[in-house]
This record gives sequence, structure tokens and C-alpha cells, in this order.
Amino acid sequence: MALLRPDLQAFAGYSSARSAALNGEVWLNANELAWANPADAAGTSRRYPEPQPSALRAALAALYRVAPEQVLVGRGSDEAIDLLVRAFCRPGIDAVLATPPVFGMYAVCARLQGAPLLEVPLIDTEAGLVADIDAVIGTACESAARLVFLCSPSNPAGSEIALADVVRTAQALQGQALVVVDEAYIEFSSQASAATLLAEHDNVAVLRTLSKAHALAAARVGTLLAAAPVIAALRRCQAPYPVPTPCAELALAALQPGVLAQTRARVAEVCQQRSALAQALAALTGVRRVYPSAGNYLLVRFDDAQAAFEALLAAGVVVRDQRAAPQLHDALRISIGSADDNQRVLAALSARSAAA
Ligand SMILES: *Cc1c(COP(=O)(O)O)cnc(C)c1O
Repeated sequence: MALLRPDLQAFAGYSSARSAALNGEVWLNANELAWANPADAAGTSRRYPEPQPSALRAALAALYRVAPEQVLVGRGSDEAIDLLVRAFCRPGIDAVLATPPVFGMYAVCARLQGAPLLEVPLIDTEAGLVADIDAVIGTACESAARLVFLCSPSNPAGSEIALADVVRTAQALQGQALVVVDEAYIEFSSQASAATLLAEHDNVAVLRTLSKAHALAAARVGTLLAAAPVIAALRRCQAPYPVPTPCAELALAALQPGVLAQTRARVAEVCQQRSALAQALAALTGVRRVYPSAGNYLLVRFDDAQAAFEALLAAGVVVRDQRAAPQLHDALRISIGSADDNQRVLAALSARSAAA
């Protein structure tokens, strides 16, 4: 794994009681108690869990159409972002590239690791607030980026990156950097996943999560998809038992075909609501721009974002204030809710524009 930090190349990580391939009937090797906790009715939490629960890993591999060896399960994709930065970036040397305004964890993890942060701003075009791929490649090449985070669909901008652009970036950075495509919202998009590129491009990695489309944010189950040697290297850097059994069981239940079908129906409903809400918002006075979105949220510019934020709050609706983010001094991000939730958003904002 040539891109891994050189000082971690021979690092074996923690060897847990669960990692040795031993067989027996009486397990007395992990200092677990011999009886379940009375509150643990199913009795599934007495023992330390499998480090990578194999049934869950297999189900996620099937869902994302990759091999189980290409799957790392962790505590949300947030954990995978942190692991990537720690395993690939030497403090003060290897840079992380991100494309603001974008999800904040790439910068937070870079900061914690002491890795230089390179920022290549999104550009505001007719088509939306989009990644400037030529500038990403140029900056990454010039400045020794080791990790390039591409968010598609991008949070909060809503824009997507064509797979051809991911390929172009990966090819330009072959041998230098890992290109990480964060697909936290890909289920709401009609574009194919960058996971389809893994077979051909070993410096592409993909982040997926059950937190958004699968409605399991509290279960904290996120996945990194990457070449098997990348996954193996990150496993050695990960906490010994990162996936709690109750979470793994809930996630596995959510991946059964009947449940998945319901999840897909909900996603379709959200996409429908998204176009309806986008259209209705764009027609309101005081709304400057509604960006096209491939996620389950809309980025909206207002003549007076403060007043819009307050009108929504007064109606009991909490949205994400984006005004501190670069280029977004007049913008709010509104998650797509139920039809009733979205009506409430529109009612609050139209009462305001009627009063103005
Ligand atoms: C929500 C979000 C995540 C975090 O997902 P978890 O799996 O819950 O940690 C990752 N990336 C982006 C872009 C997000 O918006």
C-alpha cells in the first residue's frame, strides 16, 4: 500500500481476542462475564463483537456491488474520513484537499492530524455550485495532496461530479493521492456510484452511509469501499471493536430485501418532494436562487437570509444556516422533510414575502 504513511507500513495494530483464529467451546480469553446482563434480553451483548461483523459486511458488499474485502465498516462514514487522514497523511507533510463550501469533517480531521489543508472552492455556474476539477487536479499535483475529497452529491451545494471527472482526477494523481468520493447522498441521485470504478482504479475510494437514505443516523454505520490493501491497512488503524452488536443487527435487518424496497420507495418520495419544494421556493419573492440538488436537501439563497431563518424558526422549523460558509453569505440549507414539513416551510416563507 504505497500511499500509506511510510511509518505505518509495518504497523500491525492491536491484536484483539477476536482476531486470533482459535476454536473452542469455553471462551475464557477476553475477560467477558459468563452471564448476560439482565437488561440484555436477547443476550447478544455479553461478548465482544466481531471486529468486522461478517454478515453485515457481506450484506453491505452486496448492496454496494463490491467484494467483502473491499468493505470497511465503521462508526459512520465520519470514522472512515478520520481513519483515512490518520493513515495516509504525515503531520505537516501530506495534504488533504477539499472543495468548500463542503461537508466540514474533511477539514476537521486534517486539522486534528496536523495535515496541511488545500481548499479548491466550488465555482458558481449556471448549472449550480460545482467542483472545479481542473483546479483540483492542478492544486493536488502542485502541493503534494495525499487525499482528495470529492463530495458527490455535494453537501450543501447539491451538485454532482461526473464519473468521467473522478476517473480523470484519479488518473492524474495515480501513485500520489487517493481520490475519495463521498457518496453520503448518492441514493437520491440518478448517477451511478463511483464504486463501479474500483475495479479499474486502485486509487479511488468511496464513502457510503446508512445515516441518510436508510434513516439510521443513530446506528452509526458507515462504509468505506476501496481496494483490498487499502481496507486492510485501515483495519490495522481502527479501534478494536468499532461496530456495536445492536447496531450491526439493526443495520443487517435494514438490508433485508423487503426493508430495502421500502427504503427505495421513501427515497423516490423524497426526490419527488425535492422537485416540488424547489419549484415552490423558486416562485417566492425574496428567494434569489434555489440550486439544483441531487441530495435530500436544497441550498437556497435569499434577499434576506436572516429574516427567512427567523420566520422559519418562528414557525417551529429549524434549517441549517450556511451564512458562515465561503460563498454562502445569503444561504440556508433546507432538508427535504415529509410533505407536511415542506408545506410548513413554504407557509412560513410565503407569509413573510406577503408581509414584505
Ligand atoms: C452526513 C454526511 C456524512 C456523515 O455520515 P455518517 O455516516 O453519519 O458519519 C458524510 N459525508 C457527508 C457529505 C455528509 O453529509
